[in-house]
Amino acid sequence: RVVVVGSFNVDHVWSAASLPLPGQTLSGAYRSGPGGKGFNQAIAAVRAGAETAFVCALGDDDGARLARTLAQADGLHLHALTAAAPTGTAGIFVDAEGRNSIVIGPGANAALGADCVSDASVWNEVAVTVTQLETPAEAALAAFAQARAHAALTLLNPAPANARVPQALWPLTDLATPNETEFAAQLAALGVEVDAAAVATLDDDTLHALCRRLLPHGTVVVTLGAAGVFVSHADPRRYADEAGAYRLAAAPVSAVDTTGAGDAFNGALAASLARVPARPLREHALFAVRYAGLSTERAGAAAAMPRADDVVARFGA
Ligand code: ADP
Repeated sequence: RVVVVGSFNVDHVWSAASLPLPGQTLSGAYRSGPGGKGFNQAIAAVRAGAETAFVCALGDDDGARLARTLAQADGLHLHALTAAAPTGTAGIFVDAEGRNSIVIGPGANAALGADCVSDASVWNEVAVTVTQLETPAEAALAAFAQARAHAALTLLNPAPANARVPQALWPLTDLATPNETEFAAQLAALGVEVDAAAVATLDDDTLHALCRRLLPHGTVVVTLGAAGVFVSHADPRRYADEAGAYRLAAAPVSAVDTTGAGDAFNGALAASLARVPARPLREHALFAVRYAGLSTERAGAAAAMPRADDVVARFGA
């Protein structure tokens, strides 16, 4: 099974002609729905076909009830502690060009601590553990320590880009999946300056060397949006193919909303690794690229996650 440890938010989204300026009042279309990187990735993993547990912190409110209802509808095992704070929220303004301004209210997410891993039933038959940094670093560290104790693969999505990855988390990480911004941000923390906007244009040798700096002992998959992914595979004992570096093009899709594409990629990659561990990494990554591509053809984040069958129907096995 896959265990995802991370955030749940209720997203409130207003679409208007422009982003509001200080003191300005606009009117626009409103929608709300579930979000949070952790929840999006967990829904992707379960829809991509893996038994999945999601460890998070919720308030005692309508947001928490939404999380429980949605988890149940998808067969996601929810392990939520109830915090004194309200369930996490995100207020999102989107303008006519698709640009956004976002305020996150972490709320209960900030209460997810090291004790989040104490429920032993979560770790039964865990094959892959996924986390990000929208919840406290203590939760990520505890999750990966627990994963190590159960010989599970650890997948770190070092997001959001402004989050500081605790030094102690890297040695516990088998596989890291930054997007271009997160890749540049984490390299900057090591004193290596890279222009985030130019990552996809770097040659393969340079990218491979940068990935080796970031995670010397492990594998890095840099997601490059519409340019696909760059894989720096350094762990031949873990996957059924040779170490090496290569690109996979994005899937041929008609993208309408790329929100949550990275989350789709992470959930699908984890699910594939958990379901068919003996496969070459290249095939896991290809499945995740196709899955993430399909997720961009529908609006929304968690709600837009496709199923493994949709990927096969569209692109073949
Ligand atoms: P994030 O959502 O974290 O910024 P990316 O934008 O890199 O992550 O997207 C993750 C993956 O989703 C990409 O590697 C790619 O496979 C897929 N994807 C994203 N945008 C598109 C697109 N416009 N067309 C096809 N695939 C896309």
